[in-house]
Amino acid sequence: MAATKAQFEKSYKYKQHDHLICADCSKVFEFCDPRIYEIQKLAGELLNFNITSHSLNFHGKCTKLATEGTCENHKP
Ligand SMILES: [Zn+2]
Repeated sequence: MAATKAQFEKSYKYKQHDHLICADCSKVFEFCDPRIYEIQKLAGELLNFNITSHSLNFHGKCTKLATEGTCENHKP
């Protein structure tokens, strides 16, 4: 049973996703990269810290305003 639970938690954490947030239209784009979980795991091991969750947000601008000249927060 313990192995099943661990496997579930592993795959659950694996699917944890992170965000790109657009400063123009405030849209949130989700992405998932397993390397981020590897970093979390390594940092926890190095610092003997039991990490239970994380949040990672990248802020910037999506291409909508640049390509279409408008977006939800920028009316022409
Ligand atoms: Zn945008």
